[in-house]
Amino acid sequence: MNFKLSEEQELIRANVREFALKYIEPVAGEIDANSRQPAEIFEKLGELGMMGISYPTEYGGGGAEFVTTMLVTEELARACPSTGFLHGYSFGLIGHPIMTFGTEEQKQKWITGLASGKMIGAFTLTEPGAGTDVSAATSTAEKKGDHYVLNGTKTFITNASIADVFVAFAYTDRAAGTKGMSCFLIPKGTPGLIVGQHFEKMGIRGSQTSEVVFKDCAVPADCLLGKEGEGFKIAMSALDAGRIGMAAMSTGIIQACLDESVRYSKERVQFRKPIAAQQAIQWFIADMSTDLDAARFLYLYAAFLKDQGQPFSLAASKAKLFCSEAAARHTSKAVQIQGGYGYVKGSKVERLYRDAKITEIGEGTSEAQRMIIAGAALR
Ligand SMILES: Cc1cc2nc3c(=O)[nH]c(=O)nc-3n(C[C@H](O)[C@H](O)[C@H](O)COP(=O)(O)OP(=O)(O)OC[C@H]3O[C@@H](n4cnc5c(N)ncnc54)[C@H](O)[C@@H]3O)c2cc1C
Repeated sequence: MNFKLSEEQELIRANVREFALKYIEPVAGEIDANSRQPAEIFEKLGELGMMGISYPTEYGGGGAEFVTTMLVTEELARACPSTGFLHGYSFGLIGHPIMTFGTEEQKQKWITGLASGKMIGAFTLTEPGAGTDVSAATSTAEKKGDHYVLNGTKTFITNASIADVFVAFAYTDRAAGTKGMSCFLIPKGTPGLIVGQHFEKMGIRGSQTSEVVFKDCAVPADCLLGKEGEGFKIAMSALDAGRIGMAAMSTGIIQACLDESVRYSKERVQFRKPIAAQQAIQWFIADMSTDLDAARFLYLYAAFLKDQGQPFSLAASKAKLFCSEAAARHTSKAVQIQGGYGYVKGSKVERLYRDAKITEIGEGTSEAQRMIIAGAALR
């Protein structure tokens, strides 16, 4: 058993921390206030190789392990959860399914673009009537000659307004149930692919979320990812990888809570001494520090299993469940430690508190994770 990160991983982590302190921390509040996706940060991350770090070198990646990628996600989220979220999303929900199920041409086209940081993907699964119950989707893809014609409406799609490629799911054979769902890689600008309403959000406001409508959207047959009927399997596989990203992002949020709580409780004086001298505050901090270790071990273990080529679905669900609920718990405590100063706009913990909530909802709610975990335990 070896709990030690490699020297290279430690170095990358330290470099990303330095980058985040210099380029992300100073603008994270503004990104949130203006609901602005920071293209300039992703451009720099692309130049540093951080948007392709674990893709194979033949596709412009860095050839590192998924563990290393997740350490980067954690460090980015520590400074700005929106940025960490988008980093993990790109690898888990977009890169992972293309790398796992894509043809050589699809990998050359899309992974190379994603790795450079110049291309952005949108995972296009959720529908107004199909959230946790993915199988209730009604979008269809009808084969007509050498094309598929998609019709349907998707909702809550991250990156839709700026994506170069949509990893989209639709039924090619409704009667076959989940075995009749297929997955497509649809380039932006395809006629009939319409980006609809944009959603204003409580948190992760540095990411864009929109509706997507397919209206007689015709795509060539070579846009199919995997085989016809493999869409549900591809969606579940992508979500498994994405959940490790959500867990890493949540861990970055817990780390930020600890950073902020230690700093503030040493500075804030009440009753003639720093509030850090009060046992009540120390216990909040002790719980944060303990959950931080547990969260980090859980997501790193899931990422390690993925790197080893072992099944990681259950470990990813457990990591996502624990890390996200711990992030929600500790952002609340971090606001509590800062009292009124933590509650007002402009305080970092106020932003973290709002940003943390999505981790319990996106890429499968906490209830969905419990269904998976209980299902495995009771099998
Ligand atoms: C900011 C944001 C970004 C998103 N980005 C994307 C994206 O890029 N691509 C994409 O495809 N989707 C995206 N989503 C959608 C997200 O994955 C869904 O919101 C999520 O899966 C939950 O679906 P729902 O909102 O329809 O809730 P529902 O499924 O309607 O659930 C409502 C409540 O009921 C509970 N529930 C449902 N079924 C059960 C059950 N069987 N047992 C117990 N409880 C149950 C849920 O846990 C939840 O608490 C995003 C959502 C948000 C908010």
